[in-house]
Amino acid sequence: MPRLACFDLDNTLIDRDGAFLAWARWWVGRAGLGADAVDWLVAHDNGGFTPRPQLFAGFRERFGVAVSVDEYDREHPSFTWVDQPVLDGLASLRTAGWRVAVVTNGGVVQQSRKLEHTGIAEAVDYCCISEAAGVRKPDARIFAIAAEGAGATLVDGWMVGDHPSYDIAGGINANLSTIRIGHRHDAPTPIADHDLNSVQGVFPIILAS
Ligand SMILES: [Mg+2]
Repeated sequence: MPRLACFDLDNTLIDRDGAFLAWARWWVGRAGLGADAVDWLVAHDNGGFTPRPQLFAGFRERFGVAVSVDEYDREHPSFTWVDQPVLDGLASLRTAGWRVAVVTNGGVVQQSRKLEHTGIAEAVDYCCISEAAGVRKPDARIFAIAAEGAGATLVDGWMVGDHPSYDIAGGINANLSTIRIGHRHDAPTPIADHDLNSVQGVFPIILAS
């Protein structure tokens, strides 16, 4: 049975914070507000972990303008992109016989739009979105769902992600080897098997395993 390489989406395969900044500039410009409104959104976004209703309620209080959560969910995915070497790396894994899955915590509307807009949906075998799966990282069950969907085994598999408490802890819960990307989240544990600045470095490591 093929082995499985699992990837987080936000701030792992894609620069989610960069996409948020691009959306914020667009939205604030359309609303006729100044650069301080962009700075405020970025400062309070917390890498996407601030709940959107809370973020936008604070924005309305500060700037007197409402942001629709539904519109945000539909509109901001079009500001995401993926770097070609990342798509090439995913393709190299599949060519070598690996199955590849995205395992992401988030809502179906925005995550599936990001996956389609970037082309990642077509570049992997299966996408597992927590809202659809009914279970979130770090629960090991979401990786079992991904393995089944991708037609792969979790044995000798990998999990790649940026968040220690969700991605790395989740990978460990599912008995996967783990690679942490970047240092956005300063939780000291758990420790991943590898620690890289960019996702582009993971492909040789997985291919050699
Ligand atoms: Mg992430």
